[in-house]
Amino acid sequence: MYAAGRLRGKFMNFASDNGSGVAPEIMSALAAANDGAAPGYGVDAYTGQACDRLSEVFEKDVSVFLVATGTAANALNLAAITQPHGAIFVHECAHVHTDECGAPEFFMHGAKLLPLGGDHGKLTPEAIEQGLDGFAQGVVHHPQVQAISLSQVTECGTVYSVAEIEALSALAKEHSLRLHMDGARFANALVSLGCSPGEMTWKAGVDVLSFGATKNGAMGVEAVIVFDEGLASDLPFMRKRSGQLLSKGRFLGAQMAAYLEDDLWLDMATHANRMAALLATGIDKLPGARLRHPVQANQLFPVLPKSVHKALITAGAVYYPWEREPDGVAVRLVTSFSTTEKEVEAFLSIAGSAL
Ligand SMILES: *Cc1c(COP(=O)(O)O)cnc(C)c1O
Repeated sequence: MYAAGRLRGKFMNFASDNGSGVAPEIMSALAAANDGAAPGYGVDAYTGQACDRLSEVFEKDVSVFLVATGTAANALNLAAITQPHGAIFVHECAHVHTDECGAPEFFMHGAKLLPLGGDHGKLTPEAIEQGLDGFAQGVVHHPQVQAISLSQVTECGTVYSVAEIEALSALAKEHSLRLHMDGARFANALVSLGCSPGEMTWKAGVDVLSFGATKNGAMGVEAVIVFDEGLASDLPFMRKRSGQLLSKGRFLGAQMAAYLEDDLWLDMATHANRMAALLATGIDKLPGARLRHPVQANQLFPVLPKSVHKALITAGAVYYPWEREPDGVAVRLVTSFSTTEKEVEAFLSIAGSAL
């Protein structure tokens, strides 16, 4: 990992989509919401508008709980569908498993996450079935599997097709498991598939969704979205108890309402994905470089020849080294709504001339 100072560069910063700022439209909405007074704790008009809009977007009356972080959204969602003696199948690379400091287990009062393998960050019905074979259900000694959690976009930058989600949800139903989707990059997955939000979630059997906005241009707001009303009744209390019921909640509502207005969220994700596709095309042409996973949204995982990596870093490009690979430097590149074509071109030109 580089020291934090190395991650500050503004130009060619591909470290993460949370390194980007806030979309101007969302900044303006925050300023507008700052004018005058509004009720606290999320009963304001902005939050109301955001919730109504989410029901429209999903073509269903959904229960919405706005929170400040994706970790909170995931932990609350998972706690809503699991008992303390329960367990949840996740991919071994899942953010809930590797990057949330045990928050899901903490909020679930001890329920386990059971990590499974799978190519390119994806869970498969076969892996779930094998997992179930390892924990005979109904036997008092084993954790009782109650849910599956998948990340859409995955931690490898890939996207589950609707058919893949349906296959997992069919298996989930067969075994009375709930299905959670970690949609920290929901919009990037959605525009990648070109389907509707409903088709990628409840119509395909998803019960609860962590709907991200922060990485795609908000300042800091995510939504716990519950498609089955029966699962939502405890969530108001759980959110308060977790310290996620914001006193000046209107600033979460204003962000989410602006994010969804005039398809801003879809436009920003489309742009981010397009920048990633441009990078992928260029990297594909670099002799000695390769992409470890298909590029389907706004994250790339290339292995770069050492000379290319060195030239890029020297020129001020910013990104994280990732897992070790024998044939070069494996890195992660992330694009966002604010990535420019100029940055992508500069990156590829430096990479090209290093060879
Ligand atoms: C970023 C991210 C989250 C949310 O992280 P926070 O830092 O808690 O907002 C959740 N899941 C995935 C896959 C992510 O990449």
